[in-house]
Amino acid sequence: MTEILDLKFDNRDRDDRISKAKQQDFDLIIVGGGITGAGIALDASLRGIKTLLLEKQDFASGTSSKSTKLIHGGLRYLKQLEIGLVRESGLERAVVHRNIPHLVHPETMILPIVENGEFNKITASLAIFVYDYLAKVPKKDRKKSFSKTQTLNLEPLLNPTLLKSSIAYSEYRTDDARLTMEITKAAVRNGAEAFNYLQVNDFLYENGKVKGVIAEDSYLQETHQFSAKNIVSAAGPWVDELRLKNNSLKGKRLHLTKGVHIVVSHGKFPINNSIYFDAFDGRMIFAIPRGKVTYIGTSDTNYSKDKNRVLCSSEDVDYLINCINKLFSKVNLNSEDVISSWAGLRPLIHEDGKSPSELSRKDEIFVSDSDLISIAGGKLTGFRKMSRKVVDLLIKKDPSLPNNACLTKTYKIHSNSFDNYEEFEKFQFELIDTYKKLNLSDYEARYLASTYGKNANYIIQKAMNYQELNWEKALLKSEILFTIEYESATRPDDFFNRRSGLLYFDIETVKTHFEFIIEEFKLAFSWSPEKTASIRSRCRQYITDVSIFQSEVLQEE
Ligand code: FAD
Repeated sequence: MTEILDLKFDNRDRDDRISKAKQQDFDLIIVGGGITGAGIALDASLRGIKTLLLEKQDFASGTSSKSTKLIHGGLRYLKQLEIGLVRESGLERAVVHRNIPHLVHPETMILPIVENGEFNKITASLAIFVYDYLAKVPKKDRKKSFSKTQTLNLEPLLNPTLLKSSIAYSEYRTDDARLTMEITKAAVRNGAEAFNYLQVNDFLYENGKVKGVIAEDSYLQETHQFSAKNIVSAAGPWVDELRLKNNSLKGKRLHLTKGVHIVVSHGKFPINNSIYFDAFDGRMIFAIPRGKVTYIGTSDTNYSKDKNRVLCSSEDVDYLINCINKLFSKVNLNSEDVISSWAGLRPLIHEDGKSPSELSRKDEIFVSDSDLISIAGGKLTGFRKMSRKVVDLLIKKDPSLPNNACLTKTYKIHSNSFDNYEEFEKFQFELIDTYKKLNLSDYEARYLASTYGKNANYIIQKAMNYQELNWEKALLKSEILFTIEYESATRPDDFFNRRSGLLYFDIETVKTHFEFIIEEFKLAFSWSPEKTASIRSRCRQYITDVSIFQSEVLQEE
């Protein structure tokens, strides 16, 4: 059996772990288990800071599972002259790629130059030249220009009447929720403790300074108190709620905007490359092929409804479909072609008079009079730099913390990491080859390798033990049990949404094996029939939420 280097990170021993955590005095409590909270937990624990991370839902259930899933510099921010932001994210791309190669894949992006588009040949060429320069992109990966005919050879679905030429440039594609999970696991491997389904409801104070939190367990409906010398809120769109609890919501505030992605089968929209194209309303849209599907996004609209249930509306679907049909004239998508979707909130910093797309994507740190440190804004791509800034600040403020240097620039995030991308690609081919005899398809091998890295081998070998099941179910069972045992999956949607991405990228598998997935969780957690029924109906609701679209007006009710 292939060796597994991951630590157990299993909520079936959660009560014990919570009891132990309650008896400790941590150096640091982090509120929020998105990419920012996870990144801070990893940076702090690598520096020897005793850390506790608390997440109210599942890890990455906020914005960090709803992004465009790109590790990118943000070409469009050049137009807003956000040179510092573009440079920083551009440089970080290579760092994240090196530190977790199986989750951060090089991706060629095509920018079509079109009649009346945002970019013409000269501005696009200049922008991408600056982009490549700021990010120190190696010569071989720098921009390439294509004529109209060459572009149509690459992407025959583009509208020849509007198309003039195109430019290709380099980006990276990731899976945001898996990245967050691997970073959280790395923090735990380095001594941090982390719990999902523990919501911080209030703070505890000593001499006017925050020294602990009151947290509610959404599973047992119990309340716990945890204490720490320092508290950081990395609660994304919920940061202002916690600042309000801390009586420190003054000055700058968050401005939430909604961004939606829709998913269609790759057969319906068979592009060969990722394409970054004009929406013809001054915005730019991504279309990204991934396995069996192509996903398209995103919108950018002001948001003030329920932050815990953000939905894609029929208006959002129509907007994105219209953008596609205009530039890809042969595609003719309609709303019935949309098989899945996700909608997330950007926690941006409010600036008077600016529209959603004009607001800066820069991060911001707020320190309250009672020393609550809150961080919001920023991008998935810049998580490591944001985390370093917060931990440096903590060390500066609290001399009792170990004053060690940041180690995350070269730290390999996965427990059994590939040294580089070539090694990952070789592993993927070997996996395809070795398991052909088990009828493991190329798609399954690639999916497992790019989702779980070398742990794919462990998952496949475990699946061979379940001989009473057909191969598809045996593999699914093994994958589910891996995420329960090593990744704190506690509810079926933790698995089919954030651990595996199946809800977005292979919703048919979720629908086909829905009862099987529920049953595996029921057995693993010994749920009563009543509890199973209630979880089943919530999971059905999740599937409806991502695949059935109502008008904004009806969603309001
Ligand atoms: P979140 O991921 O929202 O994490 C905050 C967490 O705090 C949540 O999980 C929440 O449940 C938890 N929480 C809240 N309150 C409490 C409480 N009281 N107790 C305990 N836990 C609590 N960036 C890129 O680099 N590349 C992209 O391609 C990209 N695309 C994007 C597309 C869209 C549509 C959007 C919306 C954003 C995109 N971004 C992208 C930005 C990026 O996704 C975000 O910057 C990032 O995910 C924010 O992470 P976070 O950890 O700060 O917030």
